[in-house]
Amino acid sequence: MATQEDVFKKVTSHAKEYGFVFQSSEIYDGLSAVYDYGQTGSALKKNIKDYWWDAMVKMNENIVGIDSSIFMHPKTWKASGHVDAFNDPLIDNKDSKKRYRADVLVEEYIQNKLESKIDKEVKKAAKRFGDSFNETEFKTTNPRVLGYFEKINSIETRLKKVQEEEDMEGFKQLIVDLEIPCPVSGSKNWTDVRQFNLMFSTEIGSLSDGSTKIYLRPETAQGIFVNYLNVQKTGRMKIPFGIAQIGKAFRNEIVARQFVFRMREFEQMEMQFFVRPGEEDKWYEYWKETRMKWHRAIGFPEGSHKFHDHLKLAHYAKAAADIEFQFPFGFKELEGVHSRGNFDLSQHEEFSKKKLRYFDPEINESYIPNVVETSIGVDRMFLAVLSTAFTEEKLEDGSERTVLKLPSFLAPYKVAVLPLTKKDGLPEKARAIIDALKYDFECYYEEKDQIGKRYRRQDAIGTPFCITVDHQTLEDNTVTVRERDTMKQERVAIDHLEKLIGESVNVKNILKKLN
Ligand code: ATP
Repeated sequence: MATQEDVFKKVTSHAKEYGFVFQSSEIYDGLSAVYDYGQTGSALKKNIKDYWWDAMVKMNENIVGIDSSIFMHPKTWKASGHVDAFNDPLIDNKDSKKRYRADVLVEEYIQNKLESKIDKEVKKAAKRFGDSFNETEFKTTNPRVLGYFEKINSIETRLKKVQEEEDMEGFKQLIVDLEIPCPVSGSKNWTDVRQFNLMFSTEIGSLSDGSTKIYLRPETAQGIFVNYLNVQKTGRMKIPFGIAQIGKAFRNEIVARQFVFRMREFEQMEMQFFVRPGEEDKWYEYWKETRMKWHRAIGFPEGSHKFHDHLKLAHYAKAAADIEFQFPFGFKELEGVHSRGNFDLSQHEEFSKKKLRYFDPEINESYIPNVVETSIGVDRMFLAVLSTAFTEEKLEDGSERTVLKLPSFLAPYKVAVLPLTKKDGLPEKARAIIDALKYDFECYYEEKDQIGKRYRRQDAIGTPFCITVDHQTLEDNTVTVRERDTMKQERVAIDHLEKLIGESVNVKNILKKLN
């Protein structure tokens, strides 16, 4: 049986082979953790962004969108805390010369050495007890499992403490005590742990105060904070209201692997929701639930997502939870929902010396609003969609096919139009069908190779419908429509195509589920 790691390898090579993702500057041997989206990938990515934008901005009259710049005044990052506190703890193995994030080493230890053992015990017991097995009861009473939980708890408590106190010696000691070996060399010959700032910097002509160093934004959120009053006033927004943005962010990640999961240049979709002080808990719960609904509406298998409440809160946070997704390499953060209090706005008020208060006419008071944020990486969402859609199937006739069972509203192409032969006027008829459909759907035209081969190529890029134009089409204006997942074929009148395809691929159907 293929391991999850094999599946992940297959997904990454499929992504390259079919034009989804290429390594950046590949002809120069690539640039680590930087990727380019190809012809199919950029279309899928755009559809993901549209789904988010529609759900957040188009569907909510109290949320508006902006597009702020990547460069910001450097004081922004002093105020936000990123200059001083946007660090990751870094450790090197002296033998393999490989660099790791110290917290990730500990988290992986917990996952591989303890959580996996709990899973094993649960599976064993489930088999033994059959239908009468009660997982919760087993986990809360079995002495061995309880022992593992206790160990996890004590490690997590120590991890939280060294992180909060920025105790780098204590961090190293934790790794030494757990006897964590380097995954590459196997040795326990570690350097000290030290803090590493993740922001990229560059030079700009000159700023008003004579400095020249500026940063590439590590998150899009600050562009929203510094503009919140501009938007509130010009858009006549009333609290509670939200500002949404999609844009690039840059982080000099220490451990950059796992394909587009962790990149140095990536894209975020963030929304800051400004609320009356005291109402943040209610809105935090609301946005946690609403965002989970957005994920589930896509139609991933049950159990693909779960919440993970944060152990260590970021320097700004009051409460934070991740929506984790079951990637081929395990459950990992896909989106964060954060209750940020009024930290950012108060900081900007202090550093800019400009009042950032909102006057609330309902209670006749001015205040700095609290903020609940939802923040998701486009690239991680892309990987979630691609890896879940990737399917290898054995067909009844013994042959195999690789098909991307993408949610049809996200597919790069919605329909491929294929003339059975290159002559007898069939290509012209096929092009006429495309000319009628292309206003509503992304269409693909292909006339080369046998029809079966062409179907497989469309399966590989996830096109939900293939339309074959044959000689009968010239006589009665009907075509064969083949559906991607079932491979069922039916004869359909050309006049009905728009409705048939529209019903299946329209994002409207998904958005309606969110209400
Ligand atoms: P992680 O713990 O995985 O480093 P984070 O907690 O630092 O992530 P946030 O700062 O909350 O991430 O960023 C919000 C979202 O942006 C994440 O949920 C993720 O989807 C995305 N993201 C963050 N860093 C990266 C990256 N290096 N590459 C791709 N996406 C990223």
